[in-house]
Amino acid sequence: MPHQISELRQDLVSGDWVVIATGRAKRPHDFLGARHVREALPVDSCPFEELHTDAVFSSANQSEVSPENWSVQVIPNKYPAFDKAACATFNTRGPYQWTDGAGFHEVVITRSHTRSLAVLTNGEVEAVIAAYQERYRVFQKDECVQYVSIFHNHGSRAGATVTHPHSQMIAIPVIPPDVGRSMDGSARYFAERHTCIHCVMLAYEREVGERIIYENDICTVFAPYASHTAFEVRIFPKKHAAQFEEIDAGTRAGVADALRTALAKLFIGLEDPDYNFFIHTAPAKNPAALAHYHWHIEILPKTAIWAGFEMGTGIEISTIAPEMAAEFLRSVVVA
Ligand SMILES: [Zn+2]
Ligand SMILES: [Zn+2]
Repeated sequence: MPHQISELRQDLVSGDWVVIATGRAKRPHDFLGARHVREALPVDSCPFEELHTDAVFSSANQSEVSPENWSVQVIPNKYPAFDKAACATFNTRGPYQWTDGAGFHEVVITRSHTRSLAVLTNGEVEAVIAAYQERYRVFQKDECVQYVSIFHNHGSRAGATVTHPHSQMIAIPVIPPDVGRSMDGSARYFAERHTCIHCVMLAYEREVGERIIYENDICTVFAPYASHTAFEVRIFPKKHAAQFEEIDAGTRAGVADALRTALAKLFIGLEDPDYNFFIHTAPAKNPAALAHYHWHIEILPKTAIWAGFEMGTGIEISTIAPEMAAEFLRSVVVA
């Protein structure tokens, strides 16, 4: 545990630097304010209560889907950031380059108006993950799609505008910069050492143990060494795999248990903080060439806002050491 005012730590894969500002000596209970007052939209004005007629996917628990018993549905976003358009045409405007925002934007909705993923059952979380996989495979077949972003915003400070729990999937015609850097870091390491940088990191984390939060047969849940934000949590499958969308039923069950447990520990330990989580997986096209990559989930509680330093440098400041955050979350008992 560092004792100085702060420590600059570098992310092994992306090369990003972060500041672990332990000199501010925040303790876990100082983060309880991360919870934003949730003024749940009344059920009768909620757009996600009914099974939509334009749903592109729906599922029910062990029975045929009907308007009465649906449990997960996926619908096109009413205000999409990306939509059907010409793809792969790069145009110029003076010195600038632009292309159409070709892609897909869908919303993955669970049935309950108030029960977030942290308080669902493992089986219910598994059904959400199955929906992600199903829609991913559809987007992947589209010629425009280069990357599929799967993310979940919980709470207004994390950007959720509808309080009814939901995830989003946006399929886009370019490789996003964060994913590009992560892929490059992983490719470089593989070229030099013929092994996966994430597998090396996981082996080290399991050996030292101080940042481990939870483990099951399938996944390791830990606080990253170079945490971007207080209480950042990452979930990695133990078995090397580049593509999230290809996981089998057994792996899906283990991932659901790990995700639900991680979210439940945050829910109980920090009293339901706002957070974002997303899945980082190999880009949609030519995944065989990206076999060195190791897909994973990142959960970022909304414990701080980006200010001038972060915006101007891309360097984030975490005010609790990941070792202390992990020790705290490890001790939170989840039913
Ligand atoms: Zn609702
Ligand atoms: Zn790996």
